[in-house]
Amino acid sequence: MKGKMSLTTKILLGLVAGLIAGIILQGAPEFVNTFIAPLGRLFLNMIMMIIVPLVFSSLIVGAASVGDPKTLGRMGGKTLAYYLLTTAFAITIGLALGSLFKPGVGLSMPVDADIAASEAPALTETLLNIIPRNAISAMADGNMLQIIVFALFLGVAFNAIPKEKGQVFIDFFDGLAEIMYKVTSYVMAFAPIGVFGLITPVVVNHGLSVLLPLGTVIAAVYIGCILHATIVYSTAVSVMGKISPLKFFKGVAPAAITAFSTTSSAGTLPVTIKCARENLGVSQKVSSFVLPLGATINMDGTALYQGVSVLFVAQVYGVELTMAQMGTIILTATLASIGTAGVPGAGMIMLSLVLTSIGLPLDGVALVAGIDRILDMARTSVNVIGDASCAVVVAATENELDVPEEAQLG
Ligand code: ASP
Repeated sequence: MKGKMSLTTKILLGLVAGLIAGIILQGAPEFVNTFIAPLGRLFLNMIMMIIVPLVFSSLIVGAASVGDPKTLGRMGGKTLAYYLLTTAFAITIGLALGSLFKPGVGLSMPVDADIAASEAPALTETLLNIIPRNAISAMADGNMLQIIVFALFLGVAFNAIPKEKGQVFIDFFDGLAEIMYKVTSYVMAFAPIGVFGLITPVVVNHGLSVLLPLGTVIAAVYIGCILHATIVYSTAVSVMGKISPLKFFKGVAPAAITAFSTTSSAGTLPVTIKCARENLGVSQKVSSFVLPLGATINMDGTALYQGVSVLFVAQVYGVELTMAQMGTIILTATLASIGTAGVPGAGMIMLSLVLTSIGLPLDGVALVAGIDRILDMARTSVNVIGDASCAVVVAATENELDVPEEAQLG
């Protein structure tokens, strides 16, 4: 560190430079899209390239080293419990802020019919699809849940056969995991420029005229995200992991900024794994299990956003919600956030599920569509920070946490 700027600082600088460049280049979208946006896409492609081999190999090694299915089940139970609990918290915060800020009261908005027509996939379909019919195509499609399931099967089965037969297979994937991990560092060296290339076009394409009418929705979602992170995650990591919250946030910062600029938890996954392992001291065993799962099913930011958005839509249409309807929202938004893929804009599609559950018109989705990218940046960051906090908590309870000295709670 001495005298040299840390990677986190450089990434942060890339973000700020992107914001400034976006403001300066307001009038030149063509220039930005031709010369600056490709830098962002290059970065995005590079991290996407890492995901499948990294997750697949490190998960096999992780599951194999866990040993028995019982331990795996226990870790899975804790992970799911944490994910569900924090998600419910997040929606509640979203609903509270939506009621407090009343972003939709007195607003009448034109509806974009194209977007209103999009429908969320059926929930049973999502659940059934967890088992891949073809493991290779699961990998080719980058279907994270299916990859997780297949890798877990392999890891568990390794422990059920004689060690000398399976070891060569595990050694191979152990090597691949380490190599992919190294590739992640190479890609991260490019992150400051990549983040710059991703943020500049967002600023250029979202002028004040798009943002201002919906300023209160944006404020409610951003404030909610900050509250959720500072209250829920700070408490979790300091109580369970004995990590100072400030150090925790500093440790996940590269992942949070990458999430903010890519708006994809799945895309950010290699960075999240790197941060959890290197900066927070989470073992490979826990990080390779908890984080891919989290990037797929744990979306606290998305749930919070859905809470705010549903209230916003109800207010625009002048619908008063009952307590029972609020309960329905908590339930469906939890399910919807689980079903949301960790890709840009997915949460907005799933919003339709929540809207229909309480009889609000699907057109409501179109009301927030114009600013979805801006909201997506905040919610994806929270999604990713939430995953990392879970990794810390599960690792702490499994004795798999080796917090670097400088991050320990003094
Ligand atoms: N973009 C979010 C994510 O990847 C999902 C969403 O749209 O809410 O986590």
